[in-house]
Amino acid sequence: MAIERTFSMIKPDATKRNLTGAITKMLEDAGLRVIASKRVWMSKREAEGFYAVHKERPFFGELVEGMTSGPTIVQVLEGEGAILKNREIMGATNPANADEGTIRKTHALSIGENSVHGSDAPETAAQEIKYWFSDTEIVG
Ligand code: ATP
Ligand code: MG
Repeated sequence: MAIERTFSMIKPDATKRNLTGAITKMLEDAGLRVIASKRVWMSKREAEGFYAVHKERPFFGELVEGMTSGPTIVQVLEGEGAILKNREIMGATNPANADEGTIRKTHALSIGENSVHGSDAPETAAQEIKYWFSDTEIVG
């Protein structure tokens, strides 16, 4: 499998509980490398733009509210099959359905406060990396 890059976020529910290091360690232990990372407090406009694909969904308001409620760590991860690998280590969207040992099973509170985001395909990974990082901020 090829070396890929994916976009990851440690969401406000997790940064508020001081889980930045614990979650990053789980990503690193799974073989992913953090090649860009910064802490941002998203504006409403940034959160709405990032999650625009969900704007018609009933949970959109709650999603934007959660994402603007505290700091988020935005990251670029690199590794063999990084997009799928990150989705696997994250676990299912609803932590009640997530496998043992995944980030969401271990740390998430609910489907709305599910601690992490990860790109779901090569196209979204490229778009999401570009949304948050310039080329010079990514140091592989
Ligand atoms: P993410 O895109 O954050 O990595 P995901 O790909 O597993 O998560 P999506 O279907 O893309 O899930 O939903 C985006 C986010 O919206 C979820 O991570 C979750 O925080 C929130 N969300 C999804 N469904 C619900 C719901 N039914 N109620 C509340 N929030 C939801
Ligand atoms: Mg998604």
